[in-house]
Amino acid sequence: MSENPAALRAEALESLLIERGLLTTEAVDEIIVRYNERVGPMNGANLVARAWTDPEFKARLLSDATAVVNELGFEGGQVDKLVVVENTAEVHNVVVCTLCSCYPWAVLGLPPKWYKDPAYRSRVVREPRAVLAEFGTEVPAEKAVRVWDSSAEVRYMVLPEMPRDWALEDTDTLAGGVSRDSMIGVTVL
Ligand code: FE
Repeated sequence: MSENPAALRAEALESLLIERGLLTTEAVDEIIVRYNERVGPMNGANLVARAWTDPEFKARLLSDATAVVNELGFEGGQVDKLVVVENTAEVHNVVVCTLCSCYPWAVLGLPPKWYKDPAYRSRVVREPRAVLAEFGTEVPAEKAVRVWDSSAEVRYMVLPEMPRDWALEDTDTLAGGVSRDSMIGVTVL
């Protein structure tokens, strides 16, 4: 058993629901497998790879990501409104939820632990460059850093820049190189 209080509470709640016959262990396992393996972050990585290789798709993704995701039938919800923001030579984007831990589950899967950490949530707004540096990301001074605060209504995903030395291969190969953290914006590729 984990010593993390939140994990303990979750386990206690799960045991209680199973005991009362309101939930089965299979159902819980199914949810974890679904978010870990089937949902993300490969869904997000596939969107990124397609955007890099198909300008028309990229334009649609940037103008209405919600419609694109609904069309592709990504399961997982939490994307009532999804906004994709593009990293460019001028701008680096990073995503946070200052209030709690809103996250685009349908495209990125389960949020990493640090995303829910109060330190990340407050500091990335106040001193984004310092926080990014701790992730090993040095953003040049001439590049602006934009912080996007997620909410229950709007979730954000970053479209990272494709490294110059990557060849425009098939989208599967490209998607394989796109990390979750680059789509949250704490790292670059
Ligand atoms: Fe939140």
